[in-house]
Amino acid sequence: MKYDAIVIGAGPGGYTLAAGLAASGLHTAIVERDLPGGTCLNRGCIPTKALCASGSAPWDSATEHARSVVAQLRDDVKASLTAVEWIPGDARLLPGRRISVGDGEIESDRIYIATGSAPAALPIEGAEHAIDSTAFLKLEKLPERVAVIGAGVIGLEFASILADKGVDVTVLEYCKEILPPADKDVAKRLRSLLSRRGVAFLTGVAVKAIHPGFSIDYEGKKGLATLDTDMVLMAVGRRAVVPEGVAEAGVELTPRGFISVDPHTLATTAEGIYAIGDCNGLCMLAHAAEAQARVLLGRPVVMEAMPSVVFTHPPCAWVGPTEDALKAEGRSFISGKALYGGNGKAMADGTTDGFVKVLADPETRKILAFHILGADADALIGEATLAVALGVSLNTLASAVIHPHPTLTELLATACANCR
Ligand code: FAD
Ligand code: NAD
Repeated sequence: MKYDAIVIGAGPGGYTLAAGLAASGLHTAIVERDLPGGTCLNRGCIPTKALCASGSAPWDSATEHARSVVAQLRDDVKASLTAVEWIPGDARLLPGRRISVGDGEIESDRIYIATGSAPAALPIEGAEHAIDSTAFLKLEKLPERVAVIGAGVIGLEFASILADKGVDVTVLEYCKEILPPADKDVAKRLRSLLSRRGVAFLTGVAVKAIHPGFSIDYEGKKGLATLDTDMVLMAVGRRAVVPEGVAEAGVELTPRGFISVDPHTLATTAEGIYAIGDCNGLCMLAHAAEAQARVLLGRPVVMEAMPSVVFTHPPCAWVGPTEDALKAEGRSFISGKALYGGNGKAMADGTTDGFVKVLADPETRKILAFHILGADADALIGEATLAVALGVSLNTLASAVIHPHPTLTELLATACANCR
């Protein structure tokens, strides 16, 4: 059977693209070996956010809530694909833009790979004793103590959920500071706020081995040490999931195993074959996968203004470069801060921990970045992203645009007014 377009993988990248291609009149098929929605819906963004929102509610009711939200959204994804032919099964690439699925074969002049990613594991003794985020979401009950390896986004979101549930959590991180891609002020303050909520951090440590039972051998500044725990969660990054047959089809991989693409066109090294989302390793976020799908649908997207949110309590979010990244580029900048402690709404709500920081170009006074830690950072980053994407000036956001009072959005305006 020949289609106008075939998409492999029905995660946020694949289902957005397939629905858009079909809406533009192309006879489109999507091949999926699991459930609609991919990692994001079934074992990523959505179940974890439902758990983050469950606070101190018991684990069984929290996971039940997560399952029901996922089931409702899965129906929405299915509904968005009514004009797309759903082909269940494992897709394998064949030369000549053909794909085998089960006993059948399909072909198209345009093939889009959106096969996502899977948890990575450290190459250390006893790595098999650790569980990953997928297994963690299936736990029926929580242990008393959990050790989390990796203070990245997954490690911190799970540590925050576990702290809410009263679990004794220790996070071990290889780098000197938690959350390496975040602004250093944000990471430092977040570490202190999570520590206050009972999360213990061991930073600048290399995990050497995991023993059944469980104990972790790690090496820090003071040499080798051991941590006893009841469960080990490994959250040290994710690796690409790549369909079988890529090499035969002429699709090259990067040295780290991601599908190599041109970052502008998302074309692979094989003519007519594209790769979007986690599997190309450009940016492993659901909205990045969706944005790449929109690029392939021919829509304009401001990729440079990619927001990130970490749904800890409190959350943090950012858009644009960090101070360190600007310094490394040798680029001059000015910065301004607004403290939640000085904002009327934050005081009224009792959410005074945190700050908004803006970075701007000293010549043009255009906003380059926002780094936010505090209540509703996940919502505030929307306006911040618009400002960065449109190259809005400090003055426009601080003064020309009216912010309702009393709201946390005034923090963005205050940070801009304080930027000098
Ligand atoms: P995926 O969502 O991984 O989908 C790929 C699909 O391809 C899967 O359904 C898979 O079954 C299918 N597939 C793979 N190989 C084949 C094959 N050979 N044949 C047929 N089908 C195949 N991102 C955010 O932006 N916000 C968050 O809050 C967030 N939270 C997360 C929490 C966790 C615990 C995790 C693990 C991830 C989280 N992410 C979050 C990241 C987000 O889930 C991914 O960036 C996103 O799912 C990537 O979308 P995708 O379409 O590239 O791939
Ligand atoms: P990550 O890359 O964010 O963090 C991994 C962490 O593990 C890093 O801090 C790294 O320094 C640390 N690490 C690596 N080796 C180590 C070692 N030997 N010992 C101790 N620490 C070690 O990866 P992740 O947290 O697994 O998340 C994977 C992807 O999923 C990320 O790209 C993220 O963008 C995405 N995700 C996003 C969200 C969100 O947007 N809210 C939530 C969850 C996951």
